[in-house]
Amino acid sequence: MIDAADLTARLIRCPSVTPEEGGALVLLGDLLADAGFEVHRVDRNSTPNLFARWGAKGARALGFNGHTDVVPPGDLGSWTHPPFSGHVEDGIIWGRGATDMKSGVAAFVAAAIDFVRQTPPDGAVILTITGDEEGTSRDGTIAILDWMEANGERMEACIVGEPSNPEYMGEMMKIGRRGSATYTVTAKGKQGHAAYPHRAKNPLHALTAYLNDLIAAPLDAGTDHFDPTGLQITSIDCGNPASNVIPETARAVVNIRFNDLHTGASLEAELKTRAARVTEATGVSLTIDSYVSGEAFLTQPGPFVDLVQSVVTQETNRQPVLSTSGGTSDARFVKNHCPVVEFGLVGAYMHQVDERVPVAQVQQLKTIYQRILEKYFE
Ligand SMILES: [Zn+2]
Repeated sequence: MIDAADLTARLIRCPSVTPEEGGALVLLGDLLADAGFEVHRVDRNSTPNLFARWGAKGARALGFNGHTDVVPPGDLGSWTHPPFSGHVEDGIIWGRGATDMKSGVAAFVAAAIDFVRQTPPDGAVILTITGDEEGTSRDGTIAILDWMEANGERMEACIVGEPSNPEYMGEMMKIGRRGSATYTVTAKGKQGHAAYPHRAKNPLHALTAYLNDLIAAPLDAGTDHFDPTGLQITSIDCGNPASNVIPETARAVVNIRFNDLHTGASLEAELKTRAARVTEATGVSLTIDSYVSGEAFLTQPGPFVDLVQSVVTQETNRQPVLSTSGGTSDARFVKNHCPVVEFGLVGAYMHQVDERVPVAQVQQLKTIYQRILEKYFE
């Protein structure tokens, strides 16, 4: 039997601050290879990544996705125990990555190894573990999925082991995420004297009218599994030092967290339509630059979501809410490959000084993952 808590502590002792490998993927690769997994390092542009499969290529495969890189520890003096000590005391494991998410990786690796040894399934178990989730994510999970595509490797469904519970184990699993996009609006008018506005075109008046229009009414009322789309103006600038000059240009930045009624492109089109109306009314030209960091996605509730939900309910005595809340994760890439759900630990200490996790919680997560594997191949 593999002790998931001990493995968590050993992983924490690998200083894998993104994008450093720190020994974490080597440790996992050796452990999985010993247990009969076929292991490949699929590094890209010096970003370390690991692919491992137990069972035959092409067999019906349940997948797992996680990361071993961690955010920097910050001020070392603020930590009760050094961040890469993996110190264990009174049933608590301390260190950077204790919750996000070396524990989740350790829990699944331990569960998968015990599972294939105790009850070898008629199928395959695939692990996709990256060293670049906390960084740019350009050559992390995407690189593993590209490599899988090129090599005919497939997961039928995948669990992402990021912390998914706000306070207690079993409260929440994630079946999708809102999309996120940033739009920069540039208003260009005509500079002039504040006392002679008829000779100028004030971009600030046009821009504020436009922004008012955007926030006047909600973009939607939400959907079955998503909150209403949220729009926030995050910046308004014109850099004008003179109080008696109407500036020529002004800029605003709008961030939108959107549900499955929209795409980054449909929102851009909507924003441009509204901008054209303001331009027509004011003579000030409004242009929009878009940056979509992720589209909204949803794994429709069905057999796989039900299976995970029922195992979590059984093991924690709580029925997890099916949520699409929170920030982004690599599930946004995995969703292009297969249905994906996220279930992991309680995320209370993520990215904090004194990040830590109870031993019992890591062991409970391992049990949950092992039950999911058993039920999946039943
Ligand atoms: Zn994470």
